[in-house]
Order: sequence, then C-alpha cells, then structure tokens
Amino acid sequence: MSHPFLDLAPLTAAHFAAIEQRVARLLGTGQDVVITQGEALLPLEGCIRGAAGPGTTALNVITGPYGQTFGGWLRDCGATVVDLAVPFHTAVTAEQIGQSLTEHPEIDFVSLVHAEAATGNTNPVAEIGAVVREHGALFMLDAVASVAAEPLLPDAWGVDLCVIGAQKAMGGPAGVSAVSVSERAWRRMAANPAAPRRSYLSLLDWKERWIDAGRAALPHAPAQLEMLALDACLERIESVGLETVTARHASVAAATRAGALALGRGLEPYVYEARDAAPVATTLRVPAGVDASDVVARALAAHPGLPLVAGGGALSKEMIRVNHYGPDATTETVDACLAALGEALDEATGDAMGQALGEAAAG
Ligand SMILES: *Cc1c(COP(=O)(O)O)cnc(C)c1O
Repeated sequence: MSHPFLDLAPLTAAHFAAIEQRVARLLGTGQDVVITQGEALLPLEGCIRGAAGPGTTALNVITGPYGQTFGGWLRDCGATVVDLAVPFHTAVTAEQIGQSLTEHPEIDFVSLVHAEAATGNTNPVAEIGAVVREHGALFMLDAVASVAAEPLLPDAWGVDLCVIGAQKAMGGPAGVSAVSVSERAWRRMAANPAAPRRSYLSLLDWKERWIDAGRAALPHAPAQLEMLALDACLERIESVGLETVTARHASVAAATRAGALALGRGLEPYVYEARDAAPVATTLRVPAGVDASDVVARALAAHPGLPLVAGGGALSKEMIRVNHYGPDATTETVDACLAALGEALDEATGDAMGQALGEAAAG
C-alpha cells in the first residue's frame, strides 16, 4: 500500500543544498548555513560546545529558561560564565550588556535569546549586536522564537552564530533546525581543542565533510520528511512574503495584549512594556488568588485545541501563555483564546467565592 510519508526516495545532496540556500535567503545571510537534523537544541548545544572551552569567558544573558540552559552547557565546557539575568517581565538593554562587557573585558563569547516564547519577551538585538561587535566577542543568538515572527537580520546585527527552528512562527516541522556560521565563528571552533569532532554535536564535521567538500555528498542519511516539510514551509513563506508573515504575528500579538486588557477580570500583560513583548507569544498574569494552570485547564476543557498553556515550572501559578504563532497567528484564534480565558476566569473566581462562602457558613 502506498502512503504519502513512506517509501520516499532519499533526499539528494543537491536538494539538501538548495534548502540550505533557501534558509540563507530567509535570514538574508551571506554566511554558511548548516541544517542540523534535530530539534533546535541540537545546534544550540553544538554552537556552545564548538565555540566554548576552558579558555572562554562567556557573558550569558538570561531573559527566560533557555538562557539558563545555555549557562549549564557553558559551565560544562569549562568556560568561565558571567550571568546577566533580567526579570522575565522585561527585556535586557544594550546598556546592561555594555556594562557587563566593560566590567569583564575578558569576555569573548556572548549568548543571547532573541525572543523568548516561554516568557513572552523580546530583546533589542540590533542595539546589542553593535555593543558586542565593538567589544569584539563572538555573538551567538537563539532566534528560534523570533524567526518569521519579527525582523531578524543576523549579518547586519553582527551575529556570528544564529540558530533557528521551523516549528514556531515559520509554521514548519520541529525535527530539523539550522544555524548560520560566520567565518570568525568557524575559526573559533577550529582553534578550540574541546570542540566536538566525529560527533552528532559537531558543526565542524559538517564544515569539513559537507561544506568544504563542495556539498557533493551528504555525510549522513538526510531526515527526508523533515527536510521536505522545511522546504515546503520556506516556499510558503516566500510566496506569502516574509514581511506579511511577520506583520501578521505583530498584529495578533498587539490584539492579544489589547484584548486581555479589555477583558478586565484582573488579567494583565506579563511583559510590562509593549515594545518588550514578543510577537510570537503573549504572556498574561492572572489576578491574585487564581491559579493560572487551573484557568488554562478549564479553558482547554471547554475549548480543546486552543494554543493556551500555563507558564513552565515556577511560573505555572501566575502565567498564562497564548502561543499565537504559525497557523495560530490569526485574529480568530486569539479572539477564541481570550473568550475562553474570560469564561474560565469567571468560573475559577466563582468557584473560589463559592468555596469561601461555604467555609464562612460552615465556620
Ligand atoms: C521553542 C524554542 C526553542 C526550541 O525548543 P523546544 O523545546 O522545541 O520548544 C529554543 N529556543 C527558544 C527561545 C524557543 O522559544
């Protein structure tokens, strides 16, 4: 029996290279693009382990949970790590980065997350990039949650390692990702004796066996389903226009923020300033006395499939996230999310009041 997912011919080296070119066009980059066959954590870890070692001093900017993960990898590589953490309700500023670089002139690596889907903030990378470039450190950017949701210009911003994944605003598959690598970053990795070689985490292996070998033969069997899906999602973005896709994310984010405030019921944008709010997802703070994960559970019980989720870990009580990206970047979806949250909040506060009255009557 034939099946659309099965019995596919292997993806050719030429097709693989053409998809890499398409990613380079999407990023507007003249750097090498390496497509990595795994979820975006693969190239993120590959970049850090490739570029950092015992001689590295890294400025690790923490504006959400991914920054914490990067700090762990950097320490594991033997790097000296300077953490710069800012509260999740705001963005880091270029001034704060500049101050850290002045205080620690030995910093030679900076890791930053562009937009944080998990906490709903976004950082001013253009300004930060100028400060990092002036200092001379290698600059790694996690752009998984910003690509196709907001402007992303790695070359203009001086990004040496720019990691993207297709599963958020690109509306593509989760099992494949990509990184653009500057000449400087290649040199850093080549000079790092601790950089992974003959390893799934090795970007240098791909340089040596794929890029420098003229992209003639793939070193491993290509993940063909994911590659075909990545190609299809790039083609769709090209045909609609990248600007149209980012504009749609910006407008649904603004509508979610305004809609949450208009809804009342004590719901507030988690990120204080609209300019610091990520177009990929909007985070909301629930009123005191209400549990965010309970509100989300109620909303999803009544309206299964809406892109609503409670904050991760310690944020699960206070934060609700509306994941309005990819196919969910529509006003219909965010309107449905807000309506469902309104009902769920009424229910949750009604139950809490009923309980309080019951307790008062019993006491
Ligand atoms: C989504 C995301 C990733 C990818 O991780 P997942 O575990 O697949 O969600 C990496 N970095 C950022 C900033 C993200 O938002």
